[in-house]
Amino acid sequence: METYAYGFPRLGTNREYKKLIEGFWRGKVSEEELRSGLENLEEGRIALYQKYVDYFPSGEMTLYDPMLDMALMLGIYTCENFDQYFDLCRGKNALELTKWFNTNYHYLVPEISSIPKPSKVRSAKKKFDKLCIQKQGIPYLVGPFTFLKLSKGYEKEKFEQHLISLAHAYTELIKGHDMVHLDEPAFVQDITDHEKELIQRAYEIMNQAHKDIFLFTYYDSVDFLEEVYQLPVKGIGLDLIYGSKNLDFIKEHGFPETKILIAGLVDGRNVWRTNIEEAVEILNELSLYAPDLMVSNASPLYHLPVTIEGEQLDPRLLEKLSFAQERLYELQLIGQAYEGELGKEVQAWSSTDDTNYFAVDKKVGHRLKKLQETDFTRSVPYTERVEIQKKVLNLPLFPTTTIGSYPQTKEVRKARAGFKTGRMSKDNYDAFVREKISDLISFQEDSGLDVLVHGEFERSDMVEFFAQKLNGIVTTKNGWIISYGTRGYRPPIIHGDISRQEPMTVKEVTYAQSLTDKPVKGMLTGPVTIIAWSYVRDDIPVDEVAYSIALCHQDEIKDYEENGIQIVQIDEPAFREKAPLKKRDWDIYFDWAVKAFRLASNTKPETQIHTHMCYSEFSEIIDYIVDMDFDVISIEAARSRADIIQVFSKTGFSRQIGLGVWDIHSPAVPRASQMEAIVEEVAKVVPIENIWINPDCGLKTRKWEETKASLKNLVKATQRLRKKYAS
Ligand code: GLN
Ligand code: ZN
Repeated sequence: METYAYGFPRLGTNREYKKLIEGFWRGKVSEEELRSGLENLEEGRIALYQKYVDYFPSGEMTLYDPMLDMALMLGIYTCENFDQYFDLCRGKNALELTKWFNTNYHYLVPEISSIPKPSKVRSAKKKFDKLCIQKQGIPYLVGPFTFLKLSKGYEKEKFEQHLISLAHAYTELIKGHDMVHLDEPAFVQDITDHEKELIQRAYEIMNQAHKDIFLFTYYDSVDFLEEVYQLPVKGIGLDLIYGSKNLDFIKEHGFPETKILIAGLVDGRNVWRTNIEEAVEILNELSLYAPDLMVSNASPLYHLPVTIEGEQLDPRLLEKLSFAQERLYELQLIGQAYEGELGKEVQAWSSTDDTNYFAVDKKVGHRLKKLQETDFTRSVPYTERVEIQKKVLNLPLFPTTTIGSYPQTKEVRKARAGFKTGRMSKDNYDAFVREKISDLISFQEDSGLDVLVHGEFERSDMVEFFAQKLNGIVTTKNGWIISYGTRGYRPPIIHGDISRQEPMTVKEVTYAQSLTDKPVKGMLTGPVTIIAWSYVRDDIPVDEVAYSIALCHQDEIKDYEENGIQIVQIDEPAFREKAPLKKRDWDIYFDWAVKAFRLASNTKPETQIHTHMCYSEFSEIIDYIVDMDFDVISIEAARSRADIIQVFSKTGFSRQIGLGVWDIHSPAVPRASQMEAIVEEVAKVVPIENIWINPDCGLKTRKWEETKASLKNLVKATQRLRKKYAS
């Protein structure tokens, strides 16, 4: 049984990738050092592939993002050197970043006006080859359909024309090689009949290069496998973990005799070890339909940290885990076990703790069992709550607030690191955080903001922080994965029943409230976001995991209430991202996602519940959003006011909306008039008494100078608006 792996993380065991590139940005790493450093890293990556598997693509080592690389190879952008390359990633000319399918990886969105001619592609590719870190092997490309689907800047009617031109351009790229690896994850989305035809035409064109194409789809099943079978490709990679329907289809309709089936049987998105015997069984079954068979990972391995080696976790947990390097080992094991070898190794790889799950908490189970419909419904409907809350809070027209975090300065990070490593005592650390909170409360009062926050100085990362407080979730020491470019995070692992040991955030928020007469907003990361940005246990249904987190939140909010906190924000930035790729699966997902929010926020009617999402592309999900039954939602509004106006004018949305009038992703200080203009436009379709004014996300990554200047303008804009609309 031959094995194929792809998408192995580029980050390096000790985040060498990040250190090299960011060092280059800071002028500490020279161009030659960057190049040779990345080449070493790539050699290490390839050596791992070579150690464990038979086939793998090359050219996966990007300087920042594979979608940008594709655009460069095609001549859609040009750049001559590293500086120009990085300028497209993060400089003045930076492309937009957006989420890659339903993952927390972000890619750079190419802007396409026209597709360059093959002759131009030839020279673009040459230029790109000089710049990038290339190694011999099967060249890796994002497939033309996926590339075009994820790009922007062209009219919808031009899709056909562009795809055909792209197919010619790709033919040029493919020509020089015997085999190529094409990633087409967009094949698993909802595809129209017209698109199916276009895909067929595009692949026919690429076939003129007479090369072996290995086509990979992943993250879900492909609905049009019948047509995919007809494509002139050599091998078809299918995700059999998140696309179990693929397996059903093969069993029912077989598999083309002339093609290789690359069976994705090793999970690329979660960390639980593969059951080797089960995988071999599936392969045996598949071999009845597809005589030419390979085994591979089910989706790219970069959603996993590099290796479990060096992690100091409970051994009973550790023996259940598999990161990217271990996934390669699993592929090798499966390949050999299929041939009837390696009984001992397979045994050794399976957990000894299968029957007795070690992180069971009976109390959690009981609470979940007792849940009834009423637990998911606030006792008083919004229309009445809003009146009660008005009296309690007594806020002005256009209340102003911020989203939670304030600049995480060097000083703050140093103190947190000092506390973590034991260099700073708990008492000193607590005193430090208290001082920061106290300064921030004064700052917010002086700024004239209406609803204050404590600043989140005690939090490193909005998910990791709660993971460290909750039972049943662990965090890793070195389990970094890339969220975009060189930026990484360490997803926690949800491995047991989740419960709250003690209040998680009440101390800081209550302290902040004790310093001011203005309301201080409590701040929680919502259940869906905690799940989306963690690895989640797969032995129980995900809705149960979500409800158990929600119950912890509900307890936390009750503690807030006892301590005089009147407003609570539950952040759900991953709410949309976690939605399945196929719309037909949405109801099931949104059902538990919405219910988890409602359970978490089911407290006193006096308590004003906010949620925050960093975006405002709601047109498709607005009904689910309304169903969450919050009182206020804060969203991005600076870049996409048109979307908001469209959605909210159509739906007659009647909740309060916090307009994110300051785009905090940019260091630019917005002018008061810019922010006013956004509010005025939205005020045409949203009742003014429903409008709040705020930045579009937390201020963690901003500098204090920018924060001060921007908030000053934000308050100035608000005061002018209040005057204007007062009558
Ligand atoms: N409360 C969080 C913060 O301000 C929200 C972050 C987010 O939405 N990504 O940092
Ligand atoms: Zn946000």
